[in-house]
Amino acid sequence: MRKDRLTYFRKRLLEKERQLVDEVGRTAHYGKDQDDDSIKDLGDQANTAYTREFFFELGNGDRRVLRDVVSALQKIDEGSFGACERCGEPIAEKRLEALPFARYCIDCQRVVEQEERMAAG
Ligand SMILES: [Zn+2]
Repeated sequence: MRKDRLTYFRKRLLEKERQLVDEVGRTAHYGKDQDDDSIKDLGDQANTAYTREFFFELGNGDRRVLRDVVSALQKIDEGSFGACERCGEPIAEKRLEALPFARYCIDCQRVVEQEERMAAG
């Protein structure tokens, strides 16, 4: 990949990283607030449990993306950025444009997601 493209993707990844660190931090803080006794004032117990679960999952998703972003930045340094981690083929730039932290080409992504769904039952 051309150097100016790498610089561009590095910038995009650094922006995303900053945004995620911010969000993960906020979510963790929110989760802590949920354990406070003042939550009882919100009433409906089931609704509260749902909200807590929702934020927990959002936090996990963000952490996962953050891990991929950090790994993509590492790959830029190592010179392997843009190659699919599964088949080694270059990931389409259009895909990287939308997801600079993508680890797989579109074909492998489908397979990986299928495998994850099967592993999850
Ligand atoms: Zn692939």
